[in-house]
Amino acid sequence: MNFKIHDKLIYEFESPKGLLYRMVISYTCVMAAVIILLSFVMGDTSRLNFYFFINSCTVAVMAWFIRQSFNIHSKEPHLLVFRISLFLLLNSSLTSVAGGLNLMERDTASVIAAILYFPAMIMIIYSFRKFISYVNFNYKSAVNLSLTDELTGLPNRRHLNIKLREIENRTGTICIADIDYFKKINDTYGHEAGDKVLRNTGLRLGNFMSDNVFISRSGGEEFAIVIFDNVNAEDIIRRIKASVSDACNGSISVTLSIGVASKNKHDSSSAIISAADNALYQAKMAGRNCIKYAPRRYG
Ligand code: GH3
Ligand code: MG
Ligand code: MG
Repeated sequence: MNFKIHDKLIYEFESPKGLLYRMVISYTCVMAAVIILLSFVMGDTSRLNFYFFINSCTVAVMAWFIRQSFNIHSKEPHLLVFRISLFLLLNSSLTSVAGGLNLMERDTASVIAAILYFPAMIMIIYSFRKFISYVNFNYKSAVNLSLTDELTGLPNRRHLNIKLREIENRTGTICIADIDYFKKINDTYGHEAGDKVLRNTGLRLGNFMSDNVFISRSGGEEFAIVIFDNVNAEDIIRRIKASVSDACNGSISVTLSIGVASKNKHDSSSAIISAADNALYQAKMAGRNCIKYAPRRYG
């Protein structure tokens, strides 16, 4: 049989103010009240000592941890294992309190507490390891998402800014490549076809990415290329340009104009970006579909 519980129901049940949380807190309060009441009726109140205080604090801390765990929005099974282990620890401490107050034989209380404690520890180790991988995975995904352009899958402008800081004290080459007459492509074939051209171009450019070559979509139909240490820069730029023109975009012909500026160690990235931008402007003025180099800067 296929039981399907509505997501909202699970959320209500497991939210910080949900039924499960209320049950755990109610259980903790009732058990603590029963233990204290019994200690007055049949136990030994002289044992309301430091040991009692420490165990009571542990119970309160465990209840607090369980409450905090309900703030984690995840349906991962290891979170449930983590909560169960905390609940076992809570019961282990309650048993120690009961034993300390002579409500049950101390040896029996110690054995029960240990029996609850051992699996709780195993479960905490298991779930904590899973939880670390889960957090790291989600962190990496979030970082990747924030640095990736949704349409082309290439690094976005934010990622480019990080790379520009990296190249700040290094030599290299910065290029700005712009698709020619892209507005015309949109106007003639539609925005969807324009998006497809951008995706195809992104795929082509992505093939050139390496440790030394970084390519991002820096704006609408504009791509920034950062080549570290000038390794075969001219050849790479030529091949990038050819590969975009060779890409199959149906009957749509796509060409790139590229402005290139080389960077010495002491040049600032922003100055080289402007130089590449000016070179791109020259490429457009020269009729497009070409590569123009910014004049070399000395000093
Ligand atoms: P040039 O050769 O001088 O570069 O001319 P151009 O038409 O390529 O450049 P222009 O700046 O005039 O037009 C760029 C167009 O790109 C305008 C804008 O609507 C379009 N565009 C920007 N981002 C996107 C996008 O994500 N998808 C699509 N389909 N079009 C976009
Ligand atoms: Mg353009
Ligand atoms: Mg443009």
